[in-house]
Amino acid sequence: MIFDDKYSLTISGEAVEAQSSVDVINPATGKVFARAPAANADILDRAVAAARSAFSDWRALPIEERRRYLLQLADEIDRNAAGMGALFTREQGRPLAQATREIATGARWLREVATQNVPIDVVEDSAARRVEVHYVSLGVVAAIVPWNFPFLLSIWKIAPALLTGNTVVLKPSPYTPLCALKLGELARGILPPGVLNVLSGDDTLGPLMSSHPGFAKITFTGSTATGKRVMAAAAKDLKRITLELGGNDAAIVLADADPGTVAEAMFASAFFNTAQVCIATKRLYVHADIYDAVRDRLHALARAAVVGDGSLEGVTHGPVQNLAQYRRVNTMIADAEASGLTLLRGSSVPEGAGYFIPLTLVDNPPDDAAVVREEAFGPILPLLRFRDLEDVIARTNDSEYGLAASVWSRDVASALAVAQRLDTGSIWINQNRQVAAHVPFAGFKQSGFGVENGREGLLEFTQRKAIYIPK
Ligand code: NAD
Repeated sequence: MIFDDKYSLTISGEAVEAQSSVDVINPATGKVFARAPAANADILDRAVAAARSAFSDWRALPIEERRRYLLQLADEIDRNAAGMGALFTREQGRPLAQATREIATGARWLREVATQNVPIDVVEDSAARRVEVHYVSLGVVAAIVPWNFPFLLSIWKIAPALLTGNTVVLKPSPYTPLCALKLGELARGILPPGVLNVLSGDDTLGPLMSSHPGFAKITFTGSTATGKRVMAAAAKDLKRITLELGGNDAAIVLADADPGTVAEAMFASAFFNTAQVCIATKRLYVHADIYDAVRDRLHALARAAVVGDGSLEGVTHGPVQNLAQYRRVNTMIADAEASGLTLLRGSSVPEGAGYFIPLTLVDNPPDDAAVVREEAFGPILPLLRFRDLEDVIARTNDSEYGLAASVWSRDVASALAVAQRLDTGSIWINQNRQVAAHVPFAGFKQSGFGVENGREGLLEFTQRKAIYIPK
């Protein structure tokens, strides 16, 4: 039974204890419900050494064998999806059905990545020679993950890293370490020792990892501010990096869109996971002709939402994941109110120590309001009126971020014309928040560095080796 209250690190296929621990809080109650081991510098050294010694055998395996291991791990995740989903809700807050879906999506994602292939590109085949580019493993990869999608984003990193022959030390956020620790526990019985090591820790562990000389690469998802620190630390010994960072995604709703359809789709995507999603819409620009209709429908949906403890039946939106984020979003809401902006509140939330915030809309704030310029990463969504297309395109692109955007119109061709002018790494037409294992995902500007997913994302876990073969 792995879903007991015991949590241990995984190093070299073994359970490892630590001398100290971090408290894990259920955001629906504000109370500590578990303790995760806190790895220190010595334990990190042991994990890196284990990953290094596993590397030469792991990379030497034919890719079919690594694939087989990953598919076995996916099956094991599916077998444990119910326990993992319940644990996810307790540590992350998301309603149970949605939490369990993240586990199932993680298993599916792992399978999809496992079936990819590492190519050999022939870049010259002339009378004199053939030049091949081989993509070879890097070494030990540090995988650092945030608290909003603690399971799926762990898979996003370990799946391509392992398939391409690297070994991994995975570090979840101190706020949500438990599902990753259980993933390590599941992997112990499947992967060769040292191939996947999992360490939880306090705030000191991330910086220790990004400056540790034993890593060949850091794959990081988190805030832009932390991403810059990771990049600076990685420069010391030129570690490879992939950074997936913050976003302030815009959606543009053109005059011919159906207000009801857009409002329903927008509500489902913008407030999913209580709006703690890097690629959630965080600025909603609506054409003046349909602005009132979209706003009123969105407000009705926010009033019908059931915000509460995700383990309870009928709850549609859980708490904000942690106290710091809860305070930050509440401050943003209070500041917006104090500066005279019009807030449209959703349904009331449970009283008590849980980190609950009503789903909140802001009715047409000015472009320079903090709630428009900054990534809230919580349930407050500004709605902005526009009339002129050129103007809204400029306003959308006027951001230091460039993660994703969406365009909504009955006419796909005109939406596509707008999409082509937006400076973001992903753009959806009449849909939102779509990602796939075979599609590259990358941020423009300060939303990221490098690529995840797709062929490019897979190959970011490799280095290029050009081989010149005479004829
Ligand atoms: P965060 O940057 O505070 O932390 C992310 C991870 O980095 C955690 O595991 C943390 O412990 C670790 N860390 C902290 N300092 C570190 C350091 N100096 N070196 C190495 N690691 C360090 O982010 P968060 O608050 O956990 O997550 C929210 C942010 O993540 C939001 O900005 C959101 O947009 C972003 N995010 C981006 C994507 C994406 O794919 N672009 C996906 C999800 C979340």
